Amino acid sequence: MLARRLWINDQVSRRRRAWVCGRVVVTGMMNGMPSLTRAEAAARSATITVTAYEIDLDLSRDAATFRSRTVVRFAGQPGAATFVEFEPAEVLSATLNGVPLDPATALIEHRLALTGLAAANELVIEAEMAYSNTGEGLHRFVDPADKQVYLYGHMFLDGARRIFPCFDQPDLKAPYRLSVTAPADWLVAANGMPAEPPVSGRHAFAETLPLASYVFTLIAGPYHARTDEHDGIPLALYARQSLARFLDAEADELFTVTKQCLDRYHELFAVRYPFGHYQQAFVPEFNFGAMENPGLVVFRDEFIYRSAVTDSQRESRATVVAHEMAHMWFGDLVTMAWWDDLWLNESFADYMGYRVTAEATRFTGCWTTFAMQDKAWGMRADQRPSTHPVAPTEVDNTDLALLNFDGISYAKGAAVLKQLVAWVGDEAFLAGLNEYFARHAYGNATLADLLTALSKASGRDLTAWADVWLRQAQVNTLRAEIEPASARYGGVTIVQTAPEHWPTLRPHRVGVGLYDRRADGAVLRRRFELDLEPALDGGRTPVPELAGQEAPDLLLLNDGDLTYAKIRLDDASVAAVPLILPLLADPLARATVWASLLDAVTDGERPVAELVTLVLAALPVETEVVVIEDVLALSRRLVDLYSTAETRGVALELVAQACDRLLAASEPGGSRQLAAARKLVGATIDRVRLQGWLDGVGVPEGLAVDTDLRWLILYRLVVLGAAGPEEIENELIRDRSATGEQWAGRCHAAVPTAAAKATAWATLTSDTEVSNRLAEAAAEGFWHPEQLDLTAPYVSRYFAEMPAMLRVRTGMSAERIAQRAYPVLAVEPRTRELAAELLAASDVPTILRRVVTDGDDDVRRALAARG
Ligand SMILES: [Zn+2]
Repeated sequence: MLARRLWINDQVSRRRRAWVCGRVVVTGMMNGMPSLTRAEAAARSATITVTAYEIDLDLSRDAATFRSRTVVRFAGQPGAATFVEFEPAEVLSATLNGVPLDPATALIEHRLALTGLAAANELVIEAEMAYSNTGEGLHRFVDPADKQVYLYGHMFLDGARRIFPCFDQPDLKAPYRLSVTAPADWLVAANGMPAEPPVSGRHAFAETLPLASYVFTLIAGPYHARTDEHDGIPLALYARQSLARFLDAEADELFTVTKQCLDRYHELFAVRYPFGHYQQAFVPEFNFGAMENPGLVVFRDEFIYRSAVTDSQRESRATVVAHEMAHMWFGDLVTMAWWDDLWLNESFADYMGYRVTAEATRFTGCWTTFAMQDKAWGMRADQRPSTHPVAPTEVDNTDLALLNFDGISYAKGAAVLKQLVAWVGDEAFLAGLNEYFARHAYGNATLADLLTALSKASGRDLTAWADVWLRQAQVNTLRAEIEPASARYGGVTIVQTAPEHWPTLRPHRVGVGLYDRRADGAVLRRRFELDLEPALDGGRTPVPELAGQEAPDLLLLNDGDLTYAKIRLDDASVAAVPLILPLLADPLARATVWASLLDAVTDGERPVAELVTLVLAALPVETEVVVIEDVLALSRRLVDLYSTAETRGVALELVAQACDRLLAASEPGGSRQLAAARKLVGATIDRVRLQGWLDGVGVPEGLAVDTDLRWLILYRLVVLGAAGPEEIENELIRDRSATGEQWAGRCHAAVPTAAAKATAWATLTSDTEVSNRLAEAAAEGFWHPEQLDLTAPYVSRYFAEMPAMLRVRTGMSAERIAQRAYPVLAVEPRTRELAAELLAASDVPTILRRVVTDGDDDVRRALAARG
């Protein structure tokens, strides 16, 4: 699954907001229902073996419910008892081995008790099931563009019970045979290949290979399809009819990337793609970036672009395609036994996704994006007061598992794997993986199984490596200690440190680059790699290669970005950055320098004023779009959080000036121009200019003020009080689409009136009629630095009312709303006091506890930086 890249247009700064904790108090309850515990799962898999699911769905009924008839066959210990997860609207009939079950007594809190098991069992249940509007279970969406109805299934993490009775845990894999009745003009697709052509709306699918229940899926509706074939594998793309022309425009690139990635995976892995066809469906209101259902990967349909996008967005989409494809091996072919090994899915998919994108597609520079964005995401999560190891040992239930879909399980894990490859060598790494696939195909595996395979292939005992990198949390800092600091280096020592409360030092393989500034640019004088071995040197590694060397203008640790560590430049290098940074030819080196500086500001070690001055000096000549986007997004976030009311205006003006210079220096119609224009719109307070762009006045040559850019401009005008409900409704008439409705919701929430804020607040806290995405839009539009007086009453209301919101909303959707609505911009001691009061209560839902812990940490940092 892909939890990152959840941006909507200019919401890039939100996408990396880490939402991690890990040292949360286990309530064992979310949304009032018990979540499956590890002990229960272990007991159940010791009691039963599932042999087959036969699921028959009737989707041709009303707008609220569908009919589900399921046969589950499983072996059991005779006489034993167990349960299935099941969440019906109404049970019509239920039998176990032919004996009727009474749901009135047997079905409690979404668990149906099964007692008196035989050696071979057959559970048959027919029920009315409810559609969802939360992106979980079977999500039902009515397209505002044409009123067509679209359905898609999303089981992850424990939503299967909302479609069929299910032994819902990752190590009870079984084959699925699905049949569906649907309106005759609908397209229905599923994990399995079609068994025969549909007749009168009746669809039958072939039995799948053994799958974990969380990757079962289907889509149904009048979806538009494009098909192709590659290397014997049928390919398909699906999207809503109202996006048909946009899907057609994107199909070439999507198929090309898909084929290139398939070829590359087949070169790297000994096992071919095993799941028959490879379909990719782009669906509305999807909670994540994408989900790796075998045979039918589901993506959010914002990936089908309807307005101009930057090439970095296309690169991002390609890495998502590659990430999901990696899951066909990591997760789908070999599945974690329990959620504590979630990283076996996500870290590998993230690492392989970037690697295969870089090696096989036109997006060869995507490791720069990784260095710039993903690692910052991972490090932010990893430095929270309640971080967790990449491979935690204590994921006690499914609620806690859901919370680990964070920057640690994805980005840090991927960075650690990149470091592992540098450590053991690529050949041994791949040999180990192939051994792991061969041994555990169609089954489950654990960290220990992987380490066994990698150790065997590399001839190195990885126990100590895994202990410090995978079982210990937090991040190390590397800096060069130079003496004497004059024209020539005397001794140079790389010093590794760790936070006091997580004092682990780690072995690192790092690159070191020496850059000199010349009249015609910057020159890489020398780059070399060395191993830091704290077990031998206590974290102080002398670098004999540098002794006696003429001091370079920039000494760059982790050049080439091999390891996962915070980098601090020496004083002389920091002083040289404004002049040398724009001259560095290697985008990865520039990204590494920027990441180091942004991190130092985030940590409060350097002032935000210094950052915006550097942005103005160095960014307008930046050519790498992802660097532009990320530096501006994070700088903007730091300006909003770390500046005071007195200093913010000047800082924001410098950011706007940097965007303006960038815009002036950009090629008309290019990605750089679009990135600069979007960020300028978000930062400027020049209402006349913004209104002019909407009216076609003063628009830079080559810049298309298209549907999404129009909404972005209007949104900014609304925040500034220069447009209101009437303008929003007029724009919605121009763009009567799902995305248009979301933009309108965001804009209405941003209107600076008490009435608009009250309406938005009611939408996000308690209106369960609106979908996940529209509730999130209200939360996204709510808080602005420009409106803090108006929204002041909602700071205490957040802490008072969010527990109730968590009772009416579920899972991911609830979490995302709680995150987006957090009053992080209210940088005051009172906000921290309210957070502390809430966290002191014993009955805070698990999700909210983590969201508040994280939000409070951001406020703490901001207060310190302002202080
Ligand atoms: Zn994933």
